Amino acid sequence: DGVLVSQLSRPCRMMLLVNPQSGKGQALTLYNNHIQRMLNEAGVPHTLVITERQNHARELVKEADLSQWDALVIMSGDGLLFEVINGLLERPDWEQAIQTPLGILPGGSGNALAASIHHYSGSSPVSSEELLLSCGFLLCKGLVSRMDLVSIHLSSSPRLFSFLSLAWGFVADVDIESEKYRHVGAARFTVGTLVRLASLRVYKGRLAYLPASEDYNNQEGLRNNVTLHCNNQTLSLDLCHPSRDSVRQNTFHNSCHSNNSLKVRRTESTVSKSPSKALSGPPDSLLLPLDQPLPVDWVAVQEEDFVLMLAMYQSHLAEDLFAAPDAAPDDGVIHLFYVRAGISRAALLKLFLAMEKGAHLGTNCQHLVYVKVRALRLEPFSPKGIITVDGEVVEYGPVQAEVHRGLGRLITG
Ligand code: ADP
Ligand code: MG
Repeated sequence: DGVLVSQLSRPCRMMLLVNPQSGKGQALTLYNNHIQRMLNEAGVPHTLVITERQNHARELVKEADLSQWDALVIMSGDGLLFEVINGLLERPDWEQAIQTPLGILPGGSGNALAASIHHYSGSSPVSSEELLLSCGFLLCKGLVSRMDLVSIHLSSSPRLFSFLSLAWGFVADVDIESEKYRHVGAARFTVGTLVRLASLRVYKGRLAYLPASEDYNNQEGLRNNVTLHCNNQTLSLDLCHPSRDSVRQNTFHNSCHSNNSLKVRRTESTVSKSPSKALSGPPDSLLLPLDQPLPVDWVAVQEEDFVLMLAMYQSHLAEDLFAAPDAAPDDGVIHLFYVRAGISRAALLKLFLAMEKGAHLGTNCQHLVYVKVRALRLEPFSPKGIITVDGEVVEYGPVQAEVHRGLGRLITG
């Protein structure tokens, strides 16, 4: 079903998950003072579920009878939605489950998705309680859009799904170091940025990506098959089964190793759904295993010294960080930013200040690079460090990501 925007059914049976510990610990108070009445007046019956611990929401949606619910809404920071999305995609019926419309009300200290939804509605920027009221209003309107989700591969953890961001270097460090300033709410990122600037450092690693082609926007439903050409031999790879094909590719690679003009040609073809039902969540058609060389049509970034790498798929990284002004919830694009080492503290501060208005790309900063991609791979060199997915710490080490266009549904109003 190719409907891009739909309307929540009425009456809508909504599960509202509230994390009483998120942000300044005020989510329940905010619910009682604002949201309860708003939803009741709009005729949106809802069942309140108060989360008791980490992973409570994840387990709950993994087991829930989803036929009982028309929407799952979380009132917390982005961390709780991350749990809900991963819980849905861990279900055997993930394909159906991830169609459940998801909503968010800002109750945490990191409310990036709420700020993004507010931005998509065309309203001018607001923060704190005004943002909550705006998101409550949009929720009552109940328009549902498709939402891109990004699958994240780490070296030994199970695959994750991400709706917001993948970060390494400066941004990831600030995100995690600033958790101790959680009591100041959204201002925690500003405080954290200033602290980190004082001890600015270089992060070493290798970055590569698959650029999003210009005509990609009109090619929903297409998957890529790759054909390798070498010494008049041809090998077609079905990248829906990367592990199986990578063995074949390696054999092929070895038989051609003396020929350095190996070319990969990308051919578009419509591929039916993966037969591998054992895998929960959609297959990744663009990725080879992390310990394999990159597909040849990927672009390897020349620099190995970075200050940050930030991949975004929503417009806002925080209430006041309008990091990806171009981003739409279902554009099928990973907005990849990186800042090369050598940038001065003053220039980096200027970038972050400009980001409040989404003006950082217009500052002509020579160290900032922005590219739209469909997949990426990062291999940090240092043995220790921080990588975040949607603001949550994940296993540190090599990581790769692929966007799944419109996999989820988001109540955008
Ligand atoms: P914040 O923006 O304040 O970080 P999040 O939504 O990211 O808010 O929530 C932070 C974490 O709190 C999430 O990882 C979630 O699993 C966890 N959590 C949920 N409910 C509780 C609870 N009752 N007590 C402690 N932690 C909780
Ligand atoms: Mg959080």
